[in-house]
Amino acid sequence: MKVLSSSEETYRLVDQMRMQGKRIGIVPTMGALHEGHLSLVHKAKQQCDVAIATIFVNPTQFGPNEDLQKYPRTLQNDLELLSANGCDVVFTPTDAQMYPQDHSTFVEPPRVSQAWEGQIRPGHFRGVATIVLKLFQILPAHVGYFGRKDYQQVAVIRAMCRDLNLPIAIEACQTVRESDGLAMSSRNRYLSPSERQRALGLSRALKGAEMLIHQGCTDGRQIEKLMRKELESSPVDSIDYAAIVHPDTLEPIETITSEVVGIIAARVGTTRLIDNATFALH
Ligand code: AMP
Repeated sequence: MKVLSSSEETYRLVDQMRMQGKRIGIVPTMGALHEGHLSLVHKAKQQCDVAIATIFVNPTQFGPNEDLQKYPRTLQNDLELLSANGCDVVFTPTDAQMYPQDHSTFVEPPRVSQAWEGQIRPGHFRGVATIVLKLFQILPAHVGYFGRKDYQQVAVIRAMCRDLNLPIAIEACQTVRESDGLAMSSRNRYLSPSERQRALGLSRALKGAEMLIHQGCTDGRQIEKLMRKELESSPVDSIDYAAIVHPDTLEPIETITSEVVGIIAARVGTTRLIDNATFALH
């Protein structure tokens, strides 16, 4: 496995691979890797000739009161995991490389970024869109692999690629969960054992929503109420949102007539967790 931190060297390598006719898959991450990240690498390996991961804790997607400083950084372990899972190339730039002193160009994120995470974390998707576009430029891959765990992020990246005519396909991969249902996340390691138990409220609320829809309920508001009740009984410490939304526009759905997505963001202790699930109508 090649580990590179220079943008120029990385571009040259990927460009060369493209010239050789290789199909390239890229998996952008912020490190502190777990099975969720590795599932994206596996998907890239299955579908492409070369799987490239990037590890960069992107400062521009964190708000001033967020966890940038304490975000887990486990580079050595990450590299071992990537190597053991068949990753071919890892790009690990420094902050100064990605954002030199005079860096002042940012991507204005698409409309789908405005609600939910975009409202609660102002500037977050501007940072995400900017770093993802920069990574796509440095690593001109054929396919970008992202997790559905960050459902709105995938929608934002898809819209950016469409609007800016980026020649890359976006693959959204299933959320990997712990055996008890908790969606894997680098931030789970902040949770104490009792918070870890209470964090199960998110996946439980989504399961409850799924059951209600399968029983024939089509009232979005009623399902939201049920999700909130489940979260409050866990209990989580605060709920940012618990909503039933359209899978593409992420607009709230009053009456369910086709596939919808349940999205949740809640705080357990000081840790902010998000989760979602797609519900087909039977
Ligand atoms: P992050 O390091 O948190 O920025 O995540 C990097 C990529 O891994 C993103 O595309 C995430 O959506 C994806 N990811 C994070 N957690 C999971 C999970 N539990 N299952 C699948 N993909 C995930």
